[in-house]
Amino acid sequence: GGSLDIYARLQELIEANGLNCSVTLEEEPHDPSIGLKKSGCHGFCEMGPLLRIEPMGWLYIKVTVEDCEDIIEKSILGDEVVERLVYRDQDGNIYKEQEEIPFYRQQTRVALEHCGQINAESIAEYIAEGGYSAVAKALYDMTSEDIVNEITESCLRGRGGGGFPTGRKWAQVLRQEEETKYVVCNGDEGDPGAFMDRSMMEGDPHRVIEGMIIAGIATKATHGYIYVRAEYPLAVSRLQTAIEQAEAYGLLGENILNSGFGFDLKISQGAGAFVCGEGSALTASIEGNRGMPRVKPPRTVEKGLFEKPTVLNNVETFCNVPPIINKGAKWYQTMGPEKNHGTKAFALTGNVQNTGLIEVPMGTTLREVIFDIGGGVKGGDFKAVQIGGPSGGCLCISATENHLDLKLDFDSLKKVGAMIGSGGLVVMNDKSCMVEVAKFFMNFTQNESCGKCVPCREGTKRMLELLTDIVEGRGTLEHIDLLEELAQTISATALCGLGKTAAFPVVSTLKYFRDEYIAHVVDKK
Ligand code: SF4
Repeated sequence: GGSLDIYARLQELIEANGLNCSVTLEEEPHDPSIGLKKSGCHGFCEMGPLLRIEPMGWLYIKVTVEDCEDIIEKSILGDEVVERLVYRDQDGNIYKEQEEIPFYRQQTRVALEHCGQINAESIAEYIAEGGYSAVAKALYDMTSEDIVNEITESCLRGRGGGGFPTGRKWAQVLRQEEETKYVVCNGDEGDPGAFMDRSMMEGDPHRVIEGMIIAGIATKATHGYIYVRAEYPLAVSRLQTAIEQAEAYGLLGENILNSGFGFDLKISQGAGAFVCGEGSALTASIEGNRGMPRVKPPRTVEKGLFEKPTVLNNVETFCNVPPIINKGAKWYQTMGPEKNHGTKAFALTGNVQNTGLIEVPMGTTLREVIFDIGGGVKGGDFKAVQIGGPSGGCLCISATENHLDLKLDFDSLKKVGAMIGSGGLVVMNDKSCMVEVAKFFMNFTQNESCGKCVPCREGTKRMLELLTDIVEGRGTLEHIDLLEELAQTISATALCGLGKTAAFPVVSTLKYFRDEYIAHVVDKK
């Protein structure tokens, strides 16, 4: 069974043993008696279902319904750890406490700090952890300009892929004279293999809301929308619950915390089109129109949602805002290299021992992520990592390059022609065919092309045909030349980011693994 079956079984056993606590965690989050709570994602996906025993901080992995009796008997009624359920590394070392496990020990959690720790459906727990104190500080101790300056000084950059400085974006919206302005949260995460934003919305929805309210105070915007894909039903329902709770606590509405400032928030559900992650397509979709990008300018900060000035940031960016307001820009600058400060969440997947959701300071190397946190490569030797989703490229060990010691931050990746994107990291071993990888991503992009402009609509189709020919043994050297020519043309002429970056996986695999393409067309293998 899954986590919910385990939850139900533990509840039964708690009742059968008369262990029910007299107050609920909702009423008293720090009550010392026994309670059972559902949290969001802990991040250690490979080892789930996970169970954490408090206050010891023991983490039980791969828990089954059959383990529940032992857990109650030994760890709740007794004071003993259930040894078979704790994490062991490949050398047989045993780790009882969650924070000691290498997967967690090497992480720095800022945006994910509450995920897996608190009950995502309880505003009381969020407040008990210091939640919404940044809203109070922003309302009572800071002006809009102070907030924008703090965010600018922190060097927070958009975590959705572009890496645009958040403070600069907010300053541009603050400058607009319009009375009506919007704050929009992009929760339309669609990269294959990426689930950072989903975990944050499901595991800590109040943090997203708090970041958005602060953006509203900073830019004098009084309406907010969270755009979430409908394929994330748990995120939608937890955000909805959180919005209702925040309204009941006076944190959303016409007069937040009796400050005179009002901010309302709605959820808008997307139908799962990848292109709706693009700013102008996203705002068109919220407006009820077909989600298609438009030509810019005007930019979203001037004419965004309903033609009004709009702050548009992604989920992770908003989750970084409350701690910056509470702890200050100087604290944020202690993490990550110059102009790339802070942390980044990555979804670590593919041929790696510890798949899961991680957060590390910007500038952490690929080697640290894959080997120290990820526990190394599974099923072979390291070959490549695909970073940044379908818009990203491949980093690798090849005849000419060794990217393992490359720092993961906006500027270092840009120098080698790759990008962080939203944070998908797909590890591949030496058995992976890089032409197949390129074809997989081209197939994805081709399916998701909205069809508005010819280079992307037709060009991605032709590139996919060429890749299919190569993979299926019908390719020639001319196919490779045509791929390169089309890649250049599409990147130069497509209207939006989806098309401009569609060829990146092909370009980077051709750069580092050209011999594999040649082998397909010459040796037909
Ligand atoms: Fe649509 Fe592709 Fe053109 Fe973007 S580049 S507008 S996704 S057809």
